Amino acid sequence: MKTSIRKILIIMLAWSLIGYSFPMQSVSPPLSEMVKKSYLEILDLSQGAGYSAGEFDSYRKQLAREEEAEKARLEKERKDFEGEIKALRQELEVLNKRASRDSEETALERRQLHCRIVKLESRMKESEIARKQGVPIAFDNKRAKLALLQQWPAEARGIGQAISAGQARARRFGNVEDIGVRAISEGQEKDIKLGQDAINEMKAYGLFPPEWEEKVVNDYVRYLAETLAVNSDLKIPLKVTVLESDEVNAFALPGGYLFVNTGLIARTETESELVGVMAHEISHITARHSAKLMKRATIAGIIVEAAQVAAMILTGGVVGIGTYYALQYGFLGLGLVLDLALLGVSREFEDEADQLGVQYAWKAGYDPRGFITLFDKLATEKGYVTTTSFFRTHPPYAERILSTFRELTYLPEKDNLRVDSLRFQQVRQHLVKLREEARKQPLQRPTLKRFPDCEEELKKPVAAGTVQKPVLPNCVLCAAK
Ligand SMILES: [Zn+2]
Repeated sequence: MKTSIRKILIIMLAWSLIGYSFPMQSVSPPLSEMVKKSYLEILDLSQGAGYSAGEFDSYRKQLAREEEAEKARLEKERKDFEGEIKALRQELEVLNKRASRDSEETALERRQLHCRIVKLESRMKESEIARKQGVPIAFDNKRAKLALLQQWPAEARGIGQAISAGQARARRFGNVEDIGVRAISEGQEKDIKLGQDAINEMKAYGLFPPEWEEKVVNDYVRYLAETLAVNSDLKIPLKVTVLESDEVNAFALPGGYLFVNTGLIARTETESELVGVMAHEISHITARHSAKLMKRATIAGIIVEAAQVAAMILTGGVVGIGTYYALQYGFLGLGLVLDLALLGVSREFEDEADQLGVQYAWKAGYDPRGFITLFDKLATEKGYVTTTSFFRTHPPYAERILSTFRELTYLPEKDNLRVDSLRFQQVRQHLVKLREEARKQPLQRPTLKRFPDCEEELKKPVAAGTVQKPVLPNCVLCAAK
């Protein structure tokens, strides 16, 4: 008995010695696991997480290596597609040499080759966008999480000290109790004509997606917009329009014009997420951001310029479609182009809109964290957000995430902030159903797809061996090209 107690004591002593003889390792999960958590979880876990500066450094280096490897993988994928396309074009050349006119059989082979080329071209384009846009966004998101984890405890302490020292209102727009009567940016009424002119001009250019006509969704979005407007610094009437567009975005024009895309409503999961984006856009109006920009150029000038920049960034010139088509057929969304114009000129404007948006959502009784939740969810989505323009225009830079949390912490506490509502869920379900039904209808507008019935074409059997595979080294036509 005694010996066993002694044994236990020796083991305990040995453990404590081992414990002391090694430097304390952090008990938190590895950083590679932490960056998979949501911003809100990281905020909680950051207190007492205990990672060393060295651990952060080496994980940042690892991220940089992973990002490069992922880009290299996508570049290889793109090149492979390119090679396949080249080979298919050679098959076409062989086909063209066979006879002057196509037999029925040859015509089918030709259509199938066309279809396969078009499919591969579009996959090649996706791969390129993922490499140039999606990968940097996904990795920036991880880096922003690291920054939050590393910097938040000190930030939170600083804010706590400022609040107890009576300095909470010393920050920019710190007078949140005065929302609605304070002066954010005087002269909003001067922007009404500017906004109306811009809309007319854009409509004349055919740049506007169709308006959503149906009442249930329109009434609800108007109700949300009104709720936010009366809790904001807006001094002019807010005119809200729902646009029928898949783009996950909303945008504002000067003079109180707010546009909300059906794609955004369909993609948000709670009312506070939708409110977050709408409040951000209303802030662009109250702070007169676009009006400040438009002094330099006409709206058409801004759009065309931004669309060209966007087309270059997003497609890398892979598809040679013009600006007009890009906008017209939703390849680039209007919101994307407008916000890119804003962002290109001033990151400061985005920063202001983030802060004011959080304040308005809070004042209206909503959980302002909805904005971050949506941000996070979309940025970590599969497929590198190639279809989500909100993140091309609102990249999750660490500094923006940090300053949004800073604002959230400064705000006076409020009970029962609303995250979701039954009405939101009902309206969203209704919208999703209507959109699905609409998709089944034949498309009214022209389409960019040159071969709309490819899926059917590719299913048709072709007599075996009719297409002769070219022997690449001897391909005379390839060399002549
Ligand atoms: Zn913005």
